[in-house]
Amino acid sequence: MADNNLENSFATLKQTIPLLLKHKISAIPTNYALWYTYVSNDSPELKTAIDYVLDNKLQFSEAKTKELYRSYLAETEEVSAWELRQSVEAMLIELSQSLQDTHSETTSFKETMDTCVDDLAKVEKEGLSVKEVMALVRNLVKDTQNIRRSTISFSAALKDAQKEIEALRGQLEKSQQEALYDGLTGLCNRRYFDEELATQSLQPNLCLLLVDLDHFKKINDNYGHVMGDLVLKATAKKLQASCRDGAQAFRFGGEEFAIIVPNSNLAKARSMAESMRKAIEKIAVKDKRSGEILGDIAASIGVAELTKGMNPLALIENADKQLYEAKRLGRNRVMPMA
Ligand code: GH3
Ligand code: MG
Ligand code: MG
Repeated sequence: MADNNLENSFATLKQTIPLLLKHKISAIPTNYALWYTYVSNDSPELKTAIDYVLDNKLQFSEAKTKELYRSYLAETEEVSAWELRQSVEAMLIELSQSLQDTHSETTSFKETMDTCVDDLAKVEKEGLSVKEVMALVRNLVKDTQNIRRSTISFSAALKDAQKEIEALRGQLEKSQQEALYDGLTGLCNRRYFDEELATQSLQPNLCLLLVDLDHFKKINDNYGHVMGDLVLKATAKKLQASCRDGAQAFRFGGEEFAIIVPNSNLAKARSMAESMRKAIEKIAVKDKRSGEILGDIAASIGVAELTKGMNPLALIENADKQLYEAKRLGRNRVMPMA
């Protein structure tokens, strides 16, 4: 047979495999030979017989396949070893090419390919029988099916995994958000504060402000919790806007806020606290239902400076003592007084 037959036999092979899959016919050598011959139309009688089965939607049972094989192929050996070798080789080349193209090449498949190519070389050297070549083809078809199946399930699994990873990432971001930020005000929360203070207290010149809204309970009682929340939000905004030079505002809890002020001293921190107090005084929240404007909001602020050897807890205690003093002296003020 001439070399220009290579293309034909390859084309035949390519059509044969999908047919085996489509009609759920196991890729054993006899079936392969049967369908290869059907596609190549080398035996019109066989073609007529198979078409009859197809047209009448009959089952390609094992018995039926055996019968067809015996009747039309057993004697004639239509499928020559040469033809098979050529087509199998061509398919190997294309398969490996397409695998390289899609970058989905796996080591095990590559090994199978190499083995197949080696085996095929033996066809020429050792003169393998048609039966042996068929066995090779059978393996190849099996591998191809497996590869196809595993590629499909692999990419499906990959997609699932990607989705899962995305969902997990979303959850993680959300829980990180929840873990470190306060949902109402958007400020960093108490947990974040504790971590930040522990880190920053290693540096000298650190100050802490504790801010507590005055008579906040009354705001809730008089205007409702929703309005109370709006006041907390407005306060957070003012505090954040008043933060300078690396100062950071936190929701310490309830209607209490904390500001970590690095690279500072008591006087500077006091002055920042004073501007925060004034900003809070200016808060005016409108009650959308009544149209009433809620003013007279005030806060007391305690300031403390971290001294050498002081631990972060002592710093909080000192600021809290000053806050208590501010409350005791009549609220809406910063302590200590200069
Ligand atoms: P003082 O001037 O002594 O600080 O009085 P106060 O009323 O501000 O202090 P108190 O501790 O008696 O009351 C604090 C109130 O803050 C009680 C609580 O219901 C309210 N509160 C705490 N967290 C929230 C919140 O997230 N939203 C609202 N609306 N109220 C809150
Ligand atoms: Mg309080
Ligand atoms: Mg209060």
